[in-house]
Amino acid sequence: MFVLDDVTKRYVTKRHGRRGKEVVAFRADHLDIPVGSYTAIVGPSGSGKTTLLSLFGGMLSPTTGRVHFDGRSLYDMPVAQRTRLRRTRIGFVFQTFNLVPYLTALENVEIPLSLIGKSASQQRCRAEALLRRVGLEDRMDHQPGELSVGQQQRVALARTLANEPEVILADEPTGNLDPDSRAAVLAFFDEMHRDGRTIVMVTHDAAAAARAASNLSLRDGVLSASSRLLDVA
Ligand code: ADP
Ligand code: MG
Repeated sequence: MFVLDDVTKRYVTKRHGRRGKEVVAFRADHLDIPVGSYTAIVGPSGSGKTTLLSLFGGMLSPTTGRVHFDGRSLYDMPVAQRTRLRRTRIGFVFQTFNLVPYLTALENVEIPLSLIGKSASQQRCRAEALLRRVGLEDRMDHQPGELSVGQQQRVALARTLANEPEVILADEPTGNLDPDSRAAVLAFFDEMHRDGRTIVMVTHDAAAAARAASNLSLRDGVLSASSRLLDVA
């Protein structure tokens, strides 16, 4: 589904400029995320996890190298095409949920549906079904501030699933959760994987990563197969 590569066989990198100094946030010579796989990428804070997910998600172009999505180079296509692809085929889950505070749970889930031009009734119908699926049928009219942290993450998951994305990119999705909410969210990831979606989760939570079929580790921006992956390879 995703391939990081460079025709010249140099590293795929992302350098962040910081007050004249450059920070290499990420580099890898090759990475192939197969369709339908569930991959966890584990690394400590500052190791380049968010940078890597942003490269995959069409939100940040690499400084060198290419990111291929489904056989096409993400950052060589026109911006409008990349935006469309991101809205229709890729779903994001953020550590801090990124819900709009003044909208209700229902309205938050409707946003991605409205962005791809669904009618108001289609938006409502689908958003209600999704919130029921994550067990929030009695919280649809609540704003994020009126929901527990675990409930907020479930609203965010419902929003992620709104456009039936083939790929879910999750940035430390359990980082802020209590143990029960964490278990519930991880169970949803298992379910999304069983539904055939490709999942890439970055995390510093080794127990969360253990749920994935394959693990990679990221340290100081350098990606390597973890011992678990080598065991099964
Ligand atoms: P993680 O998500 O694993 O905590 P990040 O991908 O956010 O790591 O960051 C990797 C490195 O790149 C860090 O050293 C961070 O300080 C640096 N970095 C991230 N974003 C920027 C930016 N916009 N400008 C400058 N440096 C950045
Ligand atoms: Mg991060």
